[in-house]
Amino acid sequence: MYDTIVIGAGPAGMTAALYAARSNLKVATLEQGAPGGQMNNTSDIENYPGFELISGPELSMKMYEPLEKLGVENLYGIVTGIEDKGDYKIVKTDDTSYETKTVIIATGAKHRLLGAPGEAEYNSRGVSYCAVCDGAFFRGEKLLVVGGGDSAVEEAIFLTRFAEKVTIVHRRDELRAQKVLQDRAFANDKIDFIWDSVVSEIKGNGQRVSSVAFKNVKTEEVSEREFGGVFIYVGLDPVTDFVSDLGITDEAGWIITDDKMQTNLPGIFAIGDVRQKHLRQITTAVGDGAIAGNAAYQYIEEQEVAH
Ligand code: FAD
Ligand code: NAP
Repeated sequence: MYDTIVIGAGPAGMTAALYAARSNLKVATLEQGAPGGQMNNTSDIENYPGFELISGPELSMKMYEPLEKLGVENLYGIVTGIEDKGDYKIVKTDDTSYETKTVIIATGAKHRLLGAPGEAEYNSRGVSYCAVCDGAFFRGEKLLVVGGGDSAVEEAIFLTRFAEKVTIVHRRDELRAQKVLQDRAFANDKIDFIWDSVVSEIKGNGQRVSSVAFKNVKTEEVSEREFGGVFIYVGLDPVTDFVSDLGITDEAGWIITDDKMQTNLPGIFAIGDVRQKHLRQITTAVGDGAIAGNAAYQYIEEQEVAH
């Protein structure tokens, strides 16, 4: 029986594990991949206090190392469900299950698909969702970035390290991204914009992406331009399929918590991007994690006093 199982080892989960372990709880993280979560797909992090600039993978390792020293178990598996037995919970994975007094859900969010014709056909053959992973394969190419948020603008700037030209297509005439990123993109000679437009089709020669068709949403005008790659950043969806039977999410699937990060099920907490919240960032993820690690400890103490 664990005291706390943290599902997901992104910044939120790793911080929760740190705080719970420092309260002397028996803690495990249960992760389907490498520790770090979305940070592993992030090139330059410039808004994490204490670091002027740090790469995502490096910050991931810095967060992970103390957990090993504190004896946090690092379990591997894809969580498929949680069973709430009241005093304890069962966390099920694809091939086993674990018993624990508390669960902290930190499964984050995953990139949304655009849904345009050609997107699936040319996935990994010119269509990508990760500039850090794939950018270097597109040296000297003309690239398209779809979206107007922080991810689209930040990754477009990153892609100018490799590409001849980067075009951002946005469905409105104003970006959603932070002002500092907007200013940097507008000042970058390698970046241009297609405004008020959506991708109507990603086209190719059967092997690789070769061009993209657009529709202007105001004029209905249709156009087509040649691109060697398309990077899609049109937002995130919560990773909560495995708790859809628990009644802890809102209509869009984000988990609702109180200010101690507890869901409406005592002993089940949720933190980071997976939570219904205003600002999805590394700083807010680690803040959530600290609160939940501490709240799990308090919950277990209270349970022990009550029995
Ligand atoms: P995640 O980082 O999403 O981690 C969730 C973890 O849960 C993952 O490791 C995943 O493998 C695991 N998991 C999911 N489902 C399961 C399952 N069923 N079983 C087991 N494990 C599971 N924020 C900033 O503050 N600064 C930035 O510069 C910045 N740049 C970004 C750039 C990009 C391209 C993107 C996409 C995001 C960026 N962000 C940035 C946002 C930031 O990365 C996230 O807010 C943060 O990573 C959220 O942390 P998290 O721990 O909640 O979730
Ligand atoms: P986001 O903020 O939700 O932005 C998604 C963008 O895609 C929006 O501009 C949206 O347009 C557009 N879009 C959505 N659906 C579309 C569709 N079907 N077709 C065309 N365009 C579509 O998502 P994100 O940029 O991935 O950011 C996610 C979170 O991570 C945010 O909280 C962000 O702050 C954080 N993040 C932070 C940093 C950083 O701090 N440096 C970097 C990256 C990400 P509209 O604007 O019209 O809605």
